[in-house]
Amino acid sequence: MTAPVSTPAAAGAPERDIVCPTCGQACKYGPSNPSRPFCSPRCRNADFGAWATESYRIAKPDGAPEGEDEGDVELP
Ligand SMILES: [Zn+2]
Repeated sequence: MTAPVSTPAAAGAPERDIVCPTCGQACKYGPSNPSRPFCSPRCRNADFGAWATESYRIAKPDGAPEGEDEGDVELP
């Protein structure tokens, strides 16, 4: 191994055709699209909002609240 391996990506990042995960619209994945892999900042925020909402749902349901102070019992 004498010659260093040159990555083809170094010769300018080529843009790829992708599909926005939020709205399903075709868009570009590359330097010209700062919102990648989404088509627009709006779709990116929408996706994040959905993720956050789902995360709230996963949170533990309102069951028995931990309010019992069994470790603070006064002994006579
Ligand atoms: Zn989109």
